[in-house]
Amino acid sequence: MKKFHMIIDLEKCAGCFNCFLACKDEHVGNEWLPYTKEQQKHDLKWIDVKVHERGVAPYTEITYVTQTCQHCDNAPCEKKYPEVFQKRSDGIMLIDINKANDPKYADACPYGCVSWNETAQNVQKCTGCAHLIDGGWKEPRCVQACATRAMQTVFCEDAEWDRLVERQGLKPITDGSNKPRILYKNLYMYNKCFVKGVVSTYVDGLEEGVIDAKVELKIGNETIYECRTDYLGEFYIDRIPKNTGKMAVVITAEGAEPLTRDFEIQDKSIVLDPILIGEGEAKANVILPNEHALQQALDHMTSYDAEDARKAFAKEKK
Ligand code: SF4
Ligand code: SF4
Ligand code: SF4
Repeated sequence: MKKFHMIIDLEKCAGCFNCFLACKDEHVGNEWLPYTKEQQKHDLKWIDVKVHERGVAPYTEITYVTQTCQHCDNAPCEKKYPEVFQKRSDGIMLIDINKANDPKYADACPYGCVSWNETAQNVQKCTGCAHLIDGGWKEPRCVQACATRAMQTVFCEDAEWDRLVERQGLKPITDGSNKPRILYKNLYMYNKCFVKGVVSTYVDGLEEGVIDAKVELKIGNETIYECRTDYLGEFYIDRIPKNTGKMAVVITAEGAEPLTRDFEIQDKSIVLDPILIGEGEAKANVILPNEHALQQALDHMTSYDAEDARKAFAKEKK
């Protein structure tokens, strides 16, 4: 049997709240019986877009994390109140509106997806827009309203879903024990850390970013990742698991001694203090851009700037 699943891609979410508005539009002022009574206009949300920040100013990153009922297969709500929370054969979790008339049921969900609607005198949550799905819709209102396609509904057999999960690297936002039917793509933007830094040197008395320096990420003596500084002398390494502990970056650039910066990853991303190499040695430390760094630079420039950069590079190579 084809069942209900959803994918939320954090890289694509623009934080526009269209999903939230569409849910309100569908369920406020409309009573879709027997699925649900109408949603409360204010205060309660069946879907929310939370703001998650990583880094330290001026290097901060904002990720929007859209969350709603995960229609869990191993659902704590159903375990606690089986008379009220009922799973359909297509995987959608619904609430029996005739039995949900006690505010005590609002504590059923450990993820905060169930709430008490005082006006309707009912506990409520996302219905998966089951009234629409049963009427032939291919996706709920929130998914339909998502202009970036950060949300997608997938109706498929469980085995096919498992293959999709593997292929697309989909992850639960929980520890997974609740077996959610909503999984996330690019969840590292929410649950992993980055380290960022900038490497500079003095050229003719002026501080310049060091292009194409080698950056090795190390745990003890082991190099676990390697990259190069970009056209601004910056490097950025993402997807580091929280609580990795003590780490270091070793910077190697032409004309300068290798430099090590130690840091520790707990639950936050790290922005290193500026790394100055070859201080006081002026011209001896000029780093010429190579093809790789030039390409990186061109990718980020306007065509006018790019043309200038090409000429400068050609001149330096002579
Ligand atoms: S997210 Fe909460 S309300 Fe939704 S199925 Fe899971 S336990 Fe129940
Ligand atoms: S699936 Fe329907 S009820 Fe659930 S959050 Fe989306 S619009 Fe709201
Ligand atoms: S509609 Fe789509 S892009 Fe906009 S906040 Fe919701 S999930 Fe993100």
